Amino acid sequence: MGRFGVSRVTGADDSGLNGVAVLGATGSIGLSTLDVIARHPARFRVVALSAHRQLDALWEQVVALEPVYAVMADPDAALELERRVRERGLATRVLAGPDGLEAIARAPEVDTVMAAIVGAAGLVSTLAAVRAGKRVLLANKEPLVMAGGLVMRAAAESGATLLPIDSEHNAVFQCLPPERAAGLDGAGVERILLTASGGPFLRRGPETLTGVTPDEACAHPNWAMGRKISVDSATMMNKGLEVIEACWLFDAPAEKIEVVVHPQSIVHSLVRYVDGSVLAEMGHADMRTPIAHALAWPQRVDAGVPALELTALAGLEFEPPDTGRFPALRVALAAARAGGIAGAVMNAANEVAVERFLQQRLAFPAIAGVIEATLGEAAADGDADSLAGILAADRAARERATIHADRMAEMCTQ
Ligand code: NAD
Ligand code: MG
Repeated sequence: MGRFGVSRVTGADDSGLNGVAVLGATGSIGLSTLDVIARHPARFRVVALSAHRQLDALWEQVVALEPVYAVMADPDAALELERRVRERGLATRVLAGPDGLEAIARAPEVDTVMAAIVGAAGLVSTLAAVRAGKRVLLANKEPLVMAGGLVMRAAAESGATLLPIDSEHNAVFQCLPPERAAGLDGAGVERILLTASGGPFLRRGPETLTGVTPDEACAHPNWAMGRKISVDSATMMNKGLEVIEACWLFDAPAEKIEVVVHPQSIVHSLVRYVDGSVLAEMGHADMRTPIAHALAWPQRVDAGVPALELTALAGLEFEPPDTGRFPALRVALAAARAGGIAGAVMNAANEVAVERFLQQRLAFPAIAGVIEATLGEAAADGDADSLAGILAADRAARERATIHADRMAEMCTQ
């Protein structure tokens, strides 16, 4: 059962402000989070920030916000940040690497953790925040895809409050009744409908995609996002990841979740009930809305997003997804049904393939091929009930995916 408990809004200090740690502060979600927080200085205080190796971007944030902690995942960048902090005479404590991320996820000054690192790199810190019983805002979907069982069990044990940031899941959360002790069936939920924009290649023939560049794949028609999730949207793997994410968050079997293509990205997702009611959440395609929702929940605060004027909309379209055109979605839906370790294996293969594509070492259509080949070998093995088992499956899948990617890249150049 997904756990959405009572919100914690009192800081460990006596300011009464909600202390927020933003993991992945220099990314697209991180920047949107800081934008929303800056609108509400009487409610929230940034107490920790992290980045991978974007030193100048994090330094600017540290100077502006003077957080208690700043973490650079890259140790050399952390050393340089530490030097600048000392030179400027700031009180911020600089930490490094995965240990630093875990430390801020658990820190007593932190009430709320925005988990906005991209990919599997966010798993350990997200899990640490959940185990510490924090209010965890989950943008980083990959930890749930890899280790949803662990994350949800840890939340149930620690009393952590999980709030989805992914726009679809945030929409579903808003459309579900808050009390679901009797599960989705008990709440009369017949289907969860996840909307998908279809990405930049919705109307392109698959045969035209061989030569597409990373910039073309990242040119999303509606959302401005980091490059990894942008490629996932272009392959529609993103929607596959989101089906698994929804299974864990809402304690739903994959069969209860349906993907609907909605190119305008105005309806962010829907819940259909047994009495025929369909509840939808709508809004502009601006992540500040789900971020503000989760930061303030169960209250509401201004997100800086303009009002949605229905009469200004040209029209809302819905169509079924074409898994023939989007093989990554077909593969991901099969992995969602398979459950177990398949999510971790698929996620690892996808991360390897997307990175290769972004480095222009793999053709766009080969992304799905790498994932399918990797899953085909090992979907069934591996222990999905322990962090060690999941990390082992992740490592093994990355090795196999690398071999498949090398082979596929060779085939293309022959
Ligand atoms: P991004 O690439 O813009 O930012 C990623 C952040 O993570 C950066 O701050 C980067 O420094 C940090 N990071 C990257 N690798 C790291 C590592 N190895 N160790 C520590 N930190 C690392 O990504 P984004 O678009 O903001 O997405 C973040 C997460 O939110 C992803 O999981 C994505 O799927 C999810 N999400 C994003 C959006 C969106 O609109 N951008 C929407 C829904 C969900
Ligand atoms: Mg989404």
